[in-house]
Amino acid sequence: MGRVFVAGSINMDVVATADRHPKIGETVAGKAVHYFPGGKGANQAVAVAKLGAPSTLIGRLGMDAFGQQLRQFLTAQGVDLALVKDTPDIHTGTAVITIADADNTIVVVPGANALVSDDDVAGPALAKGDVAVSQFEIPQPTIVAFFKRARAAGAITILNPAPAIACGPELLDLVDILILNETELGLLAQTELQETDDPARFAEATRRLPIGPDKIICVTLGKRGVLALVGGEPSLFAGRAVKAVDTTGAGDCFVGALAAQLANGKAIRDAIEHANAAASICVQRMGAAPSLPTAAEVAAVLS
Ligand code: ADP
Repeated sequence: MGRVFVAGSINMDVVATADRHPKIGETVAGKAVHYFPGGKGANQAVAVAKLGAPSTLIGRLGMDAFGQQLRQFLTAQGVDLALVKDTPDIHTGTAVITIADADNTIVVVPGANALVSDDDVAGPALAKGDVAVSQFEIPQPTIVAFFKRARAAGAITILNPAPAIACGPELLDLVDILILNETELGLLAQTELQETDDPARFAEATRRLPIGPDKIICVTLGKRGVLALVGGEPSLFAGRAVKAVDTTGAGDCFVGALAAQLANGKAIRDAIEHANAAASICVQRMGAAPSLPTAAEVAAVLS
């Protein structure tokens, strides 16, 4: 069995709820504060571990209370943190979220995540059959260095270009599998897309991406499922009919599940089917990390 290495962000999400949002310069009394482990890198590494594949996270934490809490939490989820560095003089990545009137505001401060460097990704001894995963919450030059090493070792590279930020052809060239939603596809393909568009429009948009036809592309389409392009041929994996209560972390669940399946030696179409089922379980529960399913839960859905 291969291993999954995720180079990415680790955040503490601090969520305050209130009856209404404050106006600029105003203070309002809130109702509650909750702390949720987050960051796309951490969420995807937890998804991999909960599904039973070996999961190693590469990243950075500040030497503060959030850093300690996140270390404890991720270890308890079964994620290997040997390559997560405690970094002096900087805080742990933090998202400050306010929720009122069913709307939210979010300020994300990357902190230690912004310092994940080429040296950090030089650590893992990647091998053939391993899977290297990254997203856009750490510096792009670090992802380039990580994928170059992965490629040289014969590992599979998966890029989830989220949040939607422009990137150059050098990085896309190093990618085996691109997993993105309609916003990220719209940005990278430089075209306007809506979630409600016909899947054929998404397939058309993928042809505008500055990448070769040998890449595998998965466009996640929320409740409509996933449009996959394998060898340039589009096919739709229909979304599972479930009652969604919170879609936070669904994209991260899909990425982690796909990586875990590939590390287990599964073929790409089986891995996509599996990840689509895993993500459909995730949306039926609240939160990001707590809503990620186990291998047994996914097997029950697929049986
Ligand atoms: P993101 O949050 O990154 O935009 P999506 O909303 O596209 O990601 O969701 C990722 C995956 O989660 C989808 O491709 C699908 O497999 C699953 N999913 C999301 N929403 C639903 C839903 N309402 N019902 C069933 N599956 C869903």
